[in-house]
Amino acid sequence: MSDRIYIYDTTLRDGAQTAGVDFSSPDKKAIARALDAFGIDYIEGGWPGANPTDDQFFADPPTLKNSTFTAFGMTKKTGRSTANDPGLSAVLNSTAKAFCIVGKTWDFHVDVALGITNEENLENIRETMAAAREKGETLFDAEHFFDGYKANRDYALQCLKSAHEGGARWIVLCDTNGGTMPYEIEEIVRDVTSVVPGECLGIHTHDDTGNAVANSIAAVRAGCRMVQGTLNGLGERCGNANLITLIPNLALKMGFDVGIPHERLAKLRQLSRSLDEILNRAPATHAPYVGDRAFAHKGGLHASAILKNPVCYEHVTPETVGNQRKILVSDQAGRSNMIARLNELDIRVDPKDPLVQKLVDVVKIHEADGYAYDGAEASFEVLARRTLGQVPVYFKVERFSVTDERRYNARGELTTESEASVKVRLGDQVVHTVAEGNGPVHAIDVAMRKALEPVYPALRDMHLVDYRVRILKPQDASAAMPRVLIESASTRDPDKHWFTIGVSTNIIDASFDALRDSYMYKLLRNNVAKA
Ligand SMILES: [Zn+2]
Repeated sequence: MSDRIYIYDTTLRDGAQTAGVDFSSPDKKAIARALDAFGIDYIEGGWPGANPTDDQFFADPPTLKNSTFTAFGMTKKTGRSTANDPGLSAVLNSTAKAFCIVGKTWDFHVDVALGITNEENLENIRETMAAAREKGETLFDAEHFFDGYKANRDYALQCLKSAHEGGARWIVLCDTNGGTMPYEIEEIVRDVTSVVPGECLGIHTHDDTGNAVANSIAAVRAGCRMVQGTLNGLGERCGNANLITLIPNLALKMGFDVGIPHERLAKLRQLSRSLDEILNRAPATHAPYVGDRAFAHKGGLHASAILKNPVCYEHVTPETVGNQRKILVSDQAGRSNMIARLNELDIRVDPKDPLVQKLVDVVKIHEADGYAYDGAEASFEVLARRTLGQVPVYFKVERFSVTDERRYNARGELTTESEASVKVRLGDQVVHTVAEGNGPVHAIDVAMRKALEPVYPALRDMHLVDYRVRILKPQDASAAMPRVLIESASTRDPDKHWFTIGVSTNIIDASFDALRDSYMYKLLRNNVAKA
């Protein structure tokens, strides 16, 4: 049996069934590009003919280097030939290179949902797979297979046989309702291998019992050589098997070749994040392998041990999946955590220095206010160095104001403009600047730079890459607290990005704090002397 496991992504089809998820055609393209760059074997683009978004996506498909572009469809209708079934034709005549055809394998569904005989269903499966085979690679998605097997084993197996005889390259066993347990999956898949060889078997699971990943692993152990799933476990109800968890499990724990070289596996976290970005969702901090907490160590004793030997507390090296070890500065943080964190940033302190305790207290207060420094290292470093007296007072903002004006311009078009004015103390001079921007944060940024750049030219090559707002405690609108995260970069060193944070009930205030930290961090990094 081969040690190669093929990975099939259905984020764009099954994942799109998630409540609140509605991918546009450009979203689909962006996700397909990310999957392809990572090296996923199959990307299921959707169901051509089923809705306008999928039609648009298949009419102008993404250019893929590594992945096989796959269309989803259904077996032909009874009483029609495969050539004369408009639904099937839309799928088979699409731009896809492979075709995943879903069909019934549970006799109860054949009777109740399709209202046809068991024989007719077998014929539909066989003929559809034979027609699909003429057009490209084929997969048969055996819907409700495990429930069908339990209800009528022989018929469920006959359906698979028909698909196999029809020429399906892959027979994918679906736990459509998601209720099957891992030990059942392993036993049933073993039995299936007596009819269809494991090299031709795939598994498609849902997480309704919290076992989607475990069920996929059980199927692989029993012989399946394809796993289907979605990015971050997206999918209706409790979601599909999470490929972001499944892939490292197969590659790192079980030693399978998943067609993804190790250096690319290190982009796993990035792949997971790219979907969150498109959905504008906060990444799951506790996600296995890729979450912020996956390799975070909190307890004081624990944190000191991890520095001596990470193997004591980590099941894999965080870098293999693109993650990082984190020594958390938290409300439980002791001095040893703080010192470890400072050492990571190359900040040298005397452990007995009372300023270390002061820093622990300051961080505690900020975190209670909603600051999250593990996503904003640069703000943490600025705060730490400032508290420890290791950063000069580069500038002091005495006041700033910003106004927004929405009006019709001379051409009768609606425009909104922002104007900011800032008063900054630089050494013994006070500079006052005014600037316009396309929004309040942009206007403040331009005004601040006008004031700072003549004195600190090092700021000229930095720019803002991203600006994100999350509302904390959204369940209580009156107490809602915007948290602003700013990503900055330098044109001189494009690989180096830094993140700063601000939290306030006033969004402009929060943005200003994040901006100020970003300038300070740049000056610190460039070892600029105080003006
Ligand atoms: Zn499904």
